[in-house]
Formats: sequence, structure tokens, C-alpha cells
Amino acid sequence: MHTSALVLFSGGQDSATCLALALERYPRVETLAFDYGQRHRVELQARIEVLAQLRARFPAWAPRLGADHVLDASVLGQVSDTALTRDTAIRMEAGGLPNTFVPGRNLLFLTLAAALAYRRGLEVLVTGVCETDFSGYPDCRDDTVKALQVALSLGMDRRLVIDTPLMWLDKAATWALAERLGGAELVDVIVEHTHTCYLGDRSHRHDWGWGCGSCPACELRARGWRRWKDGGP
Ligand code: ZN
Repeated sequence: MHTSALVLFSGGQDSATCLALALERYPRVETLAFDYGQRHRVELQARIEVLAQLRARFPAWAPRLGADHVLDASVLGQVSDTALTRDTAIRMEAGGLPNTFVPGRNLLFLTLAAALAYRRGLEVLVTGVCETDFSGYPDCRDDTVKALQVALSLGMDRRLVIDTPLMWLDKAATWALAERLGGAELVDVIVEHTHTCYLGDRSHRHDWGWGCGSCPACELRARGWRRWKDGGP
């Protein structure tokens, strides 16, 4: 039985839901984010607000919530040229991947997370990667994550579990999961304080939260919200 977890908590809807799930499951939970010069750096602010809200509004979870870590991963901006780290328009590339794909990003994040978990004595990594609302990111695939779990466990000679609770959920099911975990209170925290928009827009408020409303991340979040609310397409 595992008792401790490190949650990759970027400040978005998915990772906030994963954090709530981890707080439900594990007595000791720490959080981690990466600063890699992302255009939507506002998410780094958002996550601090989400942590404060969880501490203040969920007394059963608050004592379980331990240290928060932010690691510098700006090296990603040096090795890749993508719409997440450069001021270029978001579009689909010829290979079928959006130019928001940062090659190796999740591989690097999970590897750094594993190293941090090793030092902190945390047994499980929790990440909100998802194959269902698949943006086509190959490093979010179940096979990729399972392979990495094996590689990291071998390479660090310590059994490490990578828990991916959202892997087979769509965005509507993720909203439903948040409601099941923390009721309307948690849904409210996620709507108001998490950040998803790739463009870092915090000036337009929709019923599903803040964002430009038209980038792929906003569209996915809005569509999931509508499907969860209305059961529509
Ligand atoms: Zn947006």
C-alpha cells in the first residue's frame, strides 16, 4: 500500500483533478511544476492560488498537502522550437502533430519528477496525461508512460509507480471526477483558479473558466464542460 505521492501539478484542470484524487488516496502528497519559459506562464501563478484554495476549503486534505516544488526546465526552450515556447501561431504540422508539441517534454518532466521523488522518499508519481482527448502527443500515451515507469524503476533501482488516473477519461469525465471527489466546491476551485489556455488569457471568463476560448486547449476544456453539463456532443 502506497502512502506518498508526488503530483505533477501544472495548474490546469487535469492536474488539479489529479491532485484532488491524490489527496483522497495518499496521506502524504507533494506537488511539482516546471518553468520552461511556457507562453502560458500564468499557469504558474494559477497553481499557487489553487493550492491556497485547497488548503483553505478542504480541511480533510489540507494536512496531507506537503511541500510544493518548481523546477527550472528552461533547457526545453533551447532545444525545441514550438508554439508553446515561441510567439508563433498554433497550427497542425504536416506530421499530424500540433506545433504545441514540445518533443520530449513529458519524458523529461517524468524523469526529473522521479529524481525528486527519490530524494523526497515519495513512492508514486501522479500525472494527468491522457490518451482519450489525445492531442496526438506521443509522450502522453499509456505505452510511453508504462515504458518510462519500467526504465525509471530500473535506472534508479527503486520501484516507482506512475499513476495516470485520467489516461482513459475524456474531459467531460474529468469534470465528473472532480465533482465526485470534492463536490461543487472543487468544481468551483477548478473553474475559477486553474489555467488551461495556451495563450495565457486570463481576461475572458466563460462558464468553464478563464481563457481565450479559441485555442485548442480552451476548445477541449469548453467542449468537455458542455458535454458534462448537457450530455451533448
Ligand atoms: Zn485559449
